[in-house]
Amino acid sequence: MISRRTVLQGLAAMPFAGVAGAGFAAQTPTGPFTLPALAYPFAALEPHIDAETMQIHHDRHHQAYVTNLNAALAKVPALSKVQSAEGLCKQLDRLPEEIRTAVRNNAGGHVNHSMFWSQMKPGTAGAPTGPIADAINGTFGSYEKFQAAFEDAGLKRFGSGWVWLARTKAGKLEIVSTPNQDNPYMDGGVPILGNDVWEHAYYLKYRNKRADYLKAWWNVVNWDAVNAQLKAAK
Ligand code: MN
Repeated sequence: MISRRTVLQGLAAMPFAGVAGAGFAAQTPTGPFTLPALAYPFAALEPHIDAETMQIHHDRHHQAYVTNLNAALAKVPALSKVQSAEGLCKQLDRLPEEIRTAVRNNAGGHVNHSMFWSQMKPGTAGAPTGPIADAINGTFGSYEKFQAAFEDAGLKRFGSGWVWLARTKAGKLEIVSTPNQDNPYMDGGVPILGNDVWEHAYYLKYRNKRADYLKAWWNVVNWDAVNAQLKAAK
């Protein structure tokens, strides 16, 4: 059994584990954590994502992850001062057991949603450009093949979770899916692009048709933000 003192010393000794240079990382410094503001109005992603879904998703769901993360970290105050939310996701095994599950769910929720909002913007319909286009074409053959594989992985996620394009621990670009609020950081990787396939992300508009949501979502992907994340992941 590792003492709490040992755990905290170990964590404090590690450098901040945020992703330097990523657009969204600036919104998730060390705790206490706050809800990042959306860079566009709730209705900006219509008709693909409706305003009511955006408002509830951002103001209630994401806020709850932030609130619950701060509540968990308040039990171990030294932690929140030395770790970014991404850093916490990378080191779950080193956290005191009493807060590990709460941090997994809520630091995960905070990191995932912060990136999600920043990787969408109105009126971006079109294929990716720049390094992410080269990476997608090189790995999957074409944007269309990548889309099909990404949608398929999102559709096959049973229950709640996320679908990602991620750089894995081994340095490979892969499509992966995680349950709940888990993310690629927890497996030693880095998320490059993520879509939320929890029902709360689409049910008001798309009801049970997750496939339609996955297809429509491409219309609002902010490829500039994805390129920034790809650069930060290297
Ligand atoms: Mn969500």
